Amino acid sequence: MENKLMIYNTLNRKKELFEPLHAPNVGLYVCGPTVYGDAHLGHARPAITFDVLFRYLQTLGYKVRYVRNITDVGHLEHDADEGEDKIAKKARLEQLEPMEVVQHYTLRYHKAMEALNVLPPSIEPHASGHIIEQIELVKEILDNGFAYESEGSVYFDVAKYDKAHHYGVLSGRNLDDVLNTTRELDGQQEKRNPADFALWKCAQPEHIMRWPSPWSDGFPGWHCECTAMGRKYLGEQFDIHGGGMDLIFPHHECEIAQGVAAMGHPVVKYWMHNNMITINGQKMGKSYNNFINLSEFFTGSHPLLEQPYSPMTIRFFILQAHYRSTVDFGNEALQAAEKGLQRLMDAWNTLGTITAGSETTVDVASLRTKCFDAMNDDLNTAQVISHLFDASRNINLLADKKATIAAADLEELKDTFRLFAFDVLGLKEERGSDSAREEAFGKVVDMLLEQRQAAKAAKDWATSDRIRNELQALGFEIKDGKEGATWKLNK
Ligand SMILES: [Zn+2]
Repeated sequence: MENKLMIYNTLNRKKELFEPLHAPNVGLYVCGPTVYGDAHLGHARPAITFDVLFRYLQTLGYKVRYVRNITDVGHLEHDADEGEDKIAKKARLEQLEPMEVVQHYTLRYHKAMEALNVLPPSIEPHASGHIIEQIELVKEILDNGFAYESEGSVYFDVAKYDKAHHYGVLSGRNLDDVLNTTRELDGQQEKRNPADFALWKCAQPEHIMRWPSPWSDGFPGWHCECTAMGRKYLGEQFDIHGGGMDLIFPHHECEIAQGVAAMGHPVVKYWMHNNMITINGQKMGKSYNNFINLSEFFTGSHPLLEQPYSPMTIRFFILQAHYRSTVDFGNEALQAAEKGLQRLMDAWNTLGTITAGSETTVDVASLRTKCFDAMNDDLNTAQVISHLFDASRNINLLADKKATIAAADLEELKDTFRLFAFDVLGLKEERGSDSAREEAFGKVVDMLLEQRQAAKAAKDWATSDRIRNELQALGFEIKDGKEGATWKLNK
């Protein structure tokens, strides 16, 4: 397998040739959502970024096992081991079982991902389904001397780990930086050092999400799940771990430390991170009043939106930027993306109508190479889209008969366009909703019945009967009444 894929490894801060540990197999782990609310843009970007990676690795011939978890326990409101569990809080506020919250938002997340044409991962493990594996991990870290028990909780000993290895390899922080930026918080007296993080938390009496463990009835620390589930499904060493840049610290840094502390070696070869999203130049957040859910984008039901934006417009807009650049959402930019996407889809449809000539007068041969080169350059989807726009201009020249194309080149153009626009970038043609389509088809039947009425009025019985018979043959039941004919579909 020819392999020239370069990916930016956050760990080494440079682009590196992608060489899987066990080609043709590739192990890919991406941090999934904490399911206590509706999916928003912050979920869409990593999902789409790593969906494109998943698709592209398969295009290159790799057999990819893609694991994306569902966090349904252990993610506290604040990263520093304090506050309420996000799921438990939502359950308390809504008077639901925590697993009702999890089920509800997991299904809604799947629906949003399907709308965005994000392929489901190979395995989607839940943190709450892997408590045993997480307890095992904590035991190993304790046995290796990099954790300590305190009041029924277990904490990772960052200072001790830092002496033996190095804490901060991913984020570039050193222990002093971490200490200087860690606030002294209530309930932190249990820790030897404010930089230490929880591997297991003893549950307060009112805490309902709890499991027995050697230390207390409690729940795992947030970072444990990815280390435990990554190992379970991808092995002690695997190829790629991805997520949003906001996860580099503390989440991924802690994952690295846990892995080394438990297994004695680094687990992940390539760390990949997508950049963040802003809305009208501002960070997205509940406190900024610019927190827009994906379903609000799809329906246009948010005061900041001038119109609905379809899932493919959102996907296309995200892919128009390189995944390591920030993306700023605003109406103007989204409207431009909507038009751009339409232009590409129109070109694709036009391509289907073009007939081959005897010679080729447009550049077709370089498109495939250019698109592969762009993808191989750290997944430069923006560049691929620009090459597809160039191809669209050629397609329009062909349609206007200002250029010609030979049969083999026409097939090559179709293949390459299909491969990159649909298979790799994961775009799809969007048609109207089912109800809108049904309404349109219904109006066509109404129109035929009006013509039948006109034929009857003109005593053209042959036409009138033919329309009725043909509609009946298609399953329509026609009833003539005083007010004209009515119909229903018997199917
Ligand atoms: Zn994670």
